[in-house]
Amino acid sequence: MQSLLQQDIQFLPGVGPQRKKMLNEELGITSYGDLLQYFPYKHVDRSRLYSIPELTGDMPFVQVKGHILSFETFKMSARKERVVAHFTDGSGKVMDLTWFNGGKYAKQNYAIGKEYIVFGRPNVFNGRINVTHPDIDAADKLNLSAMGMQPYYNTTEKMKKMGLNSRSIERLTKTLLDILKAPLPETLPAFITDKLHLMSRDEALRKIHYPQNAKELERARVRLKFEELFFVQLNILRYASDQRRKYRGYIFSKVGDIFNDFYRNHLPFQLTEAQKRVIREIRKDMGSGRQMNRLLQGDVGSGKTLVALMSMLIALDNGYQACIMAPTEILAEQHLQTIMEFLHGMDIRVALLTGIVKGKRRQEILDGLLDGTVQILIGTHAVIEDTVQFARLGMVVVDEQHRFGVAQRAKLWNKSTNPPHVLVMTATPIPRTLAMTLYGDLDVSVINELPPGRKPVVTQHVYDRSLPSLYDSIRNQIHQGRQVYIVFPLIEESEKIDLKNLEDGFEVLTQVFPEFRLSKVHGKMKPADKEAEMQKFVRGETQILVATTVIEVGVNVPNASVMVILEAQRFGLSQLHQLRGRVGRGADQSYCVLVTCYELSADTRKRIDIMCETNDGFRIAEADLKLRGPGDLEGTQQSGMAFDLKIADIARDGQLVQMARDEAQLIIDDDPECVSERYALLWHRLKELRKTNINWGAIS
Ligand code: ADP
Ligand code: MG
Repeated sequence: MQSLLQQDIQFLPGVGPQRKKMLNEELGITSYGDLLQYFPYKHVDRSRLYSIPELTGDMPFVQVKGHILSFETFKMSARKERVVAHFTDGSGKVMDLTWFNGGKYAKQNYAIGKEYIVFGRPNVFNGRINVTHPDIDAADKLNLSAMGMQPYYNTTEKMKKMGLNSRSIERLTKTLLDILKAPLPETLPAFITDKLHLMSRDEALRKIHYPQNAKELERARVRLKFEELFFVQLNILRYASDQRRKYRGYIFSKVGDIFNDFYRNHLPFQLTEAQKRVIREIRKDMGSGRQMNRLLQGDVGSGKTLVALMSMLIALDNGYQACIMAPTEILAEQHLQTIMEFLHGMDIRVALLTGIVKGKRRQEILDGLLDGTVQILIGTHAVIEDTVQFARLGMVVVDEQHRFGVAQRAKLWNKSTNPPHVLVMTATPIPRTLAMTLYGDLDVSVINELPPGRKPVVTQHVYDRSLPSLYDSIRNQIHQGRQVYIVFPLIEESEKIDLKNLEDGFEVLTQVFPEFRLSKVHGKMKPADKEAEMQKFVRGETQILVATTVIEVGVNVPNASVMVILEAQRFGLSQLHQLRGRVGRGADQSYCVLVTCYELSADTRKRIDIMCETNDGFRIAEADLKLRGPGDLEGTQQSGMAFDLKIADIARDGQLVQMARDEAQLIIDDDPECVSERYALLWHRLKELRKTNINWGAIS
């Protein structure tokens, strides 16, 4: 059976070299097995017949049994004609069947008065029901009750041009399933399929194409989704268990002078209870002898940076170096600034290493890392390059995990004899089921509390035609001593237009607010100019900061209480949430105003509504995942942990993710070394899957 599944698709009856090429290039199908796993995207119930009076223009698919009364031909151009067949079913009503192509063929092949079943998508044309390019079969040739649910397969334009449409693929899958007579190999042990009442793999793979009814289809889908998710989880947990046994972690037994000095003499405020709890969790990990791999989640402004810094100080206390890694240069610079401010007056050597640090300065830093005098390194991905060597790297903080997968994390380990402790911080909270898949090998800490005195930001949606009254409110706020952000979108694909937009907008705003001073900042400015403008706003010399999303992760100005986001329809949910996080940092009531055009798509409207409803980053992340699907989320590919999911959807199948996780956990707990005969089937299957996925190579 296995060899049959690996058989070249070309040899399937009905394929041949030309179609093989199409299937290869357009759908990536090269073998029998690939076709078997090319699942339909929907099914249409073909056991039901409609009568013409029942039909409306918005039904998806219908079939009607009846006969053709007459044909009519309309000339459209010298060489094109439209052919219409008038069709009736004994209800007394008539519908039309229309061909824009192949009308001649239809006239020759379908006889007037003969009984047919026509099938297609109805629309209304000239007040009459019409089906364009229907499927037509002789009524006596079709056994409807045996047809059940008909599968629909995605095909591309190119394929359709060659006559390779959903119906052709249907014929191919039918042929294939007939050839595959022996049962398809099972991949899950009976104790799991029994316990969870799952279909056998053989049954599921057949029924997913040809179910008798909707219920059967659902059971087939559940079985196949579970299987996918289960092996992803099994792999993650196997990986984590391996790491645990393979690597010892540095033991940081001391919380010493540096940490205590900072805590007593330099910390400008009280830690929140959540911050204290998380620091305790981290300390415990770092003292355990096991390498820490921890994900720190916390909403924008919850104070993650400080937690990271204090954890790094523990590394320093134990004679190790620490490193913090940010996804962009701007963010790295900001971390440097924040951390330098916190550490002001303490004797700690901090250095910044990004792609733009070159020549002599770079060499100095590299030397300092190698001789151990640079104690804290702040940088971008530049720090994982091989040329960067540490004397004793004990702890790494990764900010914004999204762009930093397992493979990259693994690379850090080459930098010291034992792997450093790793703390991963995300500013955008990740929904549980996604975290379980993307970062399933990490332990999780959550800062679920904001520093005291923060009032929730009030969020409002206005249309751009109400800008004048919005300007009045802004004026009002500034007269009360507040400062205001006005954000323009800047999307890479339309960068030029967007920048022009910002320049023009800035001109308009200087005219609208002649009595105030404005700063302007965008990503294309020289760092020094950008910095100077930002500083003016930070010092309160300007009242309005006009910017692109560079401020998304940027400045901290507690006096700024209004965030205006223009063309908010162009921003994603998590971006909007991040931007909103820039205000509400002081004691005053803050506002976030989302300005959009009048016409909004349904999805955009949902995004705006959710923003107005809640400040809860976790709820926003859930909604974001549902709206966009996990495929879009940055890092899904880079995570290196998930197989290419064919049928499961992490956003919608949360419950199955949890079930898969639980089952996989039981097995790993029972057989941490993954050697037991009892699970041989699973270990074998895992190996097979790992072979077919390139991502996997990077981590093992
Ligand atoms: P995050 O990175 O989680 O978005 P930050 O670490 O940037 O949040 O912290 C947001 C702001 O809150 C910073 O100005 C920080 O100095 C301040 N902050 C952090 N912890 C506290 C605290 N316990 N009390 C008051 N302010 C705090
Ligand atoms: Mg931060």
